Amino acid sequence: AKADGRGVYRFFQAAMGEKARERRLFERDLRLALERNEFYLAYQPQKSVRTGAVTGFEALLRWRHPLRGEVAPADFIPIAEESGLIHAIGAWVLRCACREMIAINDLRVAVNVSALQIHSANFAGLVRDVLAETRFPPDRLEIEVTETALIRDFDRALTTLRQIKALGAQVTMDDFGTGYSSLSHLKMFPFDRIKIDRSFVRAVDQNYQGAAIVRAVLGLGRGLGLPVLAEGVETAEEFNFLDAEACDEVQGYFLGRPEPLALVT
Ligand code: C2E
Ligand code: CA
Ligand code: CA
Ligand code: CA
Repeated sequence: AKADGRGVYRFFQAAMGEKARERRLFERDLRLALERNEFYLAYQPQKSVRTGAVTGFEALLRWRHPLRGEVAPADFIPIAEESGLIHAIGAWVLRCACREMIAINDLRVAVNVSALQIHSANFAGLVRDVLAETRFPPDRLEIEVTETALIRDFDRALTTLRQIKALGAQVTMDDFGTGYSSLSHLKMFPFDRIKIDRSFVRAVDQNYQGAAIVRAVLGLGRGLGLPVLAEGVETAEEFNFLDAEACDEVQGYFLGRPEPLALVT
């Protein structure tokens, strides 16, 4: 029995060792990805519901590894955060988005920023430097932050968001409704726009709870004077609902998929 136990333990240890090894390799590949130019941005259009015109693009990070293929952000962003690589990767995203989108006149570009970036010592300084270096018009840059990115340290996050606003850039609350104490966050932080999470948008044509939640967020936006963008719009039914409820902007497969710059322009 003792020997068996040890065998199981050894097996377990080997499996753990294998997992740790895979994780180290993944992290190494992620580190190399910047040097080897394996990242690129895909841009998804955002449209005005009223006019149908494109108002801006959300920049979405893509990683194409020679052997792993296309790795989804959901699979590598968490590792980038745990390893600290998110700072270098995030700076690359910001710089690339400003460089690439400067050619597209008058349209906004929205860049996703992780909690660690918001809480890092000089994130606003990075934004300022990238704007100066690329000559990207500050009022066309939008920084997307989630509620969970704010709760770690309210004062620090508030300072950073105010600094970004002082540069002339905009700040959007992403994934609204999926975090917690959303209402106080809207009051506390200087947001320019609210993005309704796609989990709510998906449900508008499925049940009255889904419709009620989206209506409530639209009402909140109106009350606070903040434009509301609904994300993850996939069907005509969802779009028609948002149109009827006077949602300001929409984004989703129904309007356009994320595409590399060459296909956007
Ligand atoms: P997110 O910020 O909520 O981005 C929207 C996600 O929804 C994107 O997934 C987009 O491709 C997807 N999407 C757009 N329209 C539809 C639709 O109609 N239906 C469905 N089912 N999905 C739709 P993606 O590109 O895989 O990104 C996932 C998440 O990874 C993003 O969620 C964001 O949190 C994070 N992410 C992406 N790029 C960056 C980045 O540059 N920096 C950081 N920190 N996070 C990023
Ligand atoms: Ca986003
Ligand atoms: Ca989102
Ligand atoms: Ca639906």
